[in-house]
Amino acid sequence: MPPRIYLSPPHMGPDERALLIEAFDSNWVAPLGPHVDAFEREFAQFAGVASACALSSGTAGLHLALVMLGVGAGDEVFTSTLTFAATANAITYAGARPTFIDSERASWNMDPDLLAEALAQRARAGKLPKAVVVVDLYGQCADYDRILAACAEYGVAVVEDAAEALGARHRGAGGDRSAGALGLIGVFSFNGNKIITTSGGGMLVSDDPNFTNRARFLATQAREPAAHYQHEHVGYNYRLSNLLAAVGRGQLRVLGDRVGSRRANNAYYRSALAALPGVSFMPEAPWGSSTAWLTCLQIDPQAYGQTREALRLAYVERDIEARPVWKPMHLQPVFASCDVFGGSVASELFDRGLCLPSGSALTQAELEEVAAVATSLAK
Ligand SMILES: *Cc1c(COP(=O)(O)O)cnc(C)c1O
Repeated sequence: MPPRIYLSPPHMGPDERALLIEAFDSNWVAPLGPHVDAFEREFAQFAGVASACALSSGTAGLHLALVMLGVGAGDEVFTSTLTFAATANAITYAGARPTFIDSERASWNMDPDLLAEALAQRARAGKLPKAVVVVDLYGQCADYDRILAACAEYGVAVVEDAAEALGARHRGAGGDRSAGALGLIGVFSFNGNKIITTSGGGMLVSDDPNFTNRARFLATQAREPAAHYQHEHVGYNYRLSNLLAAVGRGQLRVLGDRVGSRRANNAYYRSALAALPGVSFMPEAPWGSSTAWLTCLQIDPQAYGQTREALRLAYVERDIEARPVWKPMHLQPVFASCDVFGGSVASELFDRGLCLPSGSALTQAELEEVAAVATSLAK
């Protein structure tokens, strides 16, 4: 058997190794240190934002963003239904209730028309959501011109969950901007399967340094500047370690190459599978450029002759890791009692959607093997 082909494994290089060893040898092993400061500086520069705060995970970043926006018990927060559970979990950590908004077909991200309708409905009822957490799915920005306009009309804050979209661009009313720079606060993840990884970690960014400074304070147990450990707020233990920040700095240097490789994978799959009946790809929306973090396709079972699940199992058979598109949050038992606006688009994307191996170190032979399985099953 050839080696297993993973969905999106870590892809490390010599700089990461050298920086990690340097951090270890310097004995800056404890939570903070010079690599954390440097990673924040370099990351903020890359994302074109004023400031960044390095954290232990993307989920921690989402939680802190909501806490800083004053989200608490009894509040409602709108978010995309088609996402990873971390987005909705963070809303519940803040004590609030998530309400889910369906996807649009152009980007698979939050439908701006449905969001506007939902906001109008809540305004009529006299209680607006405290925030909207917009997810940039699979490496692609949502339609921020329309989403930000809808939220501005009602004065509702926008948090951007850019965990999957580091390196993506959005070209709109605000110019050509990085994913994560569109909302009031943006959050990234360096989890093991993301486009770059620190094995685990996250980054909270904002053009308003008050948010990143506050995040830094809350993430270190809200310790007041006093030698005797003075506490006036509830804090969290959410900071990134200096060792992992060193890895992150190395990964950031090769991010451009990683984006290039993922986009090349996507282009290969598109050309290799374009002619198959009933196979279509996640579209790249005209308002930006996607990193193609994961290449996702849709299977029309009538035309293709097999279901998405049959294709997934054919991959399992060959020891190839392919995964269904995220199961929408409004279909998850844990969020069954939450409100949802729409839902049929995300449900269909889930039923028919499959994410193909998309790692930045895939070889041409591996790409061909993945494509061959999809080809062999087609009608
Ligand atoms: C990965 C991911 C997160 C969570 O990031 P962690 O660093 O794993 O906590 C949040 N939202 C989305 C959409 C993700 O894909």
